[in-house]
Amino acid sequence: MFRSHNFSAGPSILPTEVLQKAQAELLDYNGTGSSIIELSHRGPEYVEVDAQATARLKSLLGLGDDFEVLFLQGGASTQFMMVPYNFLGDGKSACYLNTGTWSKKAIKEAKILGNVHVGFSSEEQNFNRVPKNEDIKHAEGAEYMHFTSNNTIFGTQFRTEPESNGAPLVCDASSDFLSREIDVKRYGMIYAGAQKNAGTAGVTIVIIRKDFLAKARTENVSTILSYPTHVGTMFNTPPVFGVYFLNLVLEWIESKGGLKAVQQMNEAKAAHLYAEIDKDAFYRGTAEVDSRSLMNVTFRLPSEDLEKKFLKEAGELNLDGLKGHRSVGGIRASIYNACPRESVDALVAFMADFRTKNS
Ligand SMILES: *Cc1c(COP(=O)(O)O)cnc(C)c1O
Repeated sequence: MFRSHNFSAGPSILPTEVLQKAQAELLDYNGTGSSIIELSHRGPEYVEVDAQATARLKSLLGLGDDFEVLFLQGGASTQFMMVPYNFLGDGKSACYLNTGTWSKKAIKEAKILGNVHVGFSSEEQNFNRVPKNEDIKHAEGAEYMHFTSNNTIFGTQFRTEPESNGAPLVCDASSDFLSREIDVKRYGMIYAGAQKNAGTAGVTIVIIRKDFLAKARTENVSTILSYPTHVGTMFNTPPVFGVYFLNLVLEWIESKGGLKAVQQMNEAKAAHLYAEIDKDAFYRGTAEVDSRSLMNVTFRLPSEDLEKKFLKEAGELNLDGLKGHRSVGGIRASIYNACPRESVDALVAFMADFRTKNS
C-alpha cells in the first residue's frame, strides 16, 4: 500500500486505520447487507452512529448537558452567515477579531446582518500574528466575540481563548478542532468544517451552549437557517457519510488517549519542525513566534526559485501538499492530528539536507 507524506491544508490527511475501517464496512454495514450511506437516516443504524458521534464529542471535549451538538451542511462558510443571522439584527452588535482570510469572510457576512466592531486586526502586517489580550479593543454590549482559533492560511493560532469582556466566544475552529484541550465554558459556540482535522468535507460540527442558543432570533427566520430547528431532531437528511466518518475519527482519537495525548503529539511534531526552521536564517517562519500554529507551519526560503526547487524535490520524495497559499507564498506544512510523526521526521530530514546543498 502506498501512502504519501501528506501535508495538505484541507481536505487533508486522515488516519490510515480509519480509512481502512470505512473501507471494510463500506459494502455491508454491521451485517445489514447495505452501506451506511444506503440506509435511512431515521433507521436504527444511522441513529446510533449519530448518537455515538455526539456522545464521543461531548466526552472528548468535556461538554456538559448545557451544550447542544449539531451536524450541519454548508461548511464553515455557511456558519459565517448563520451566526449573525441568528444572533444579530437591527441595533445588535458583535466583536470580531480579524486575524486572516477566514475571519475577514466572517466579518463580511456579519456586516450584512448587524453592527460589527473589529476589536483587533493584523491585516496590515499580512496577518502575521494573533492579538494578546491587551491588544483587543472591546465595545460594550456585544452579543458575542468571534475569533478564528487557527488561521490555516497564515500559520497563526491563539494559544488560549482570548479575553472577551463578558461576551460569549464564538469560534471558527475549522483547522484546529480536536487538536488540543480547550476551556469549553468560555464558549457560546464552536463551529468547524470537518475536512481539516476531523473527517471528510460535507459535515460542519456546531456546538452551542444552551443559554446562548436561547438568544437566537425566532421571528421571521428561515427554518433551515435557524439553529433551534436543528436541535434534538434531524430536520432534513444529515450528511450521513460525514457523520459516520467523524465518529470513526473520534473513536481513533479516544484510542490515542484523548485530546491531551493528541495535543502532546501535536506539540512535539510542531516543535521538531520549528526547530529546523529556526536553526539559521535559511528558512524563515512567516508568523511571529508566539503566534505560531501547531497545525499549519508556514515558512519562506531565501528566494522564490529555491522555493520552487524545494517543492519539486520534496515531491520526488512523496512529501506532498507543501505549497503555501498564494497570499503568503513559500511553504506550508499542515501537520494535523492524523499526520504521523514519521512524516514530520521525513520532512525535517529533507529540509536539513536541502539547506546543506543550497546554502
Ligand atoms: C477551510 C476553512 C474554512 C472554510 O471552510 P468550508 O468548509 O470550505 O466553508 C473556514 N475557516 C477556516 C479556519 C478554515 O480553515
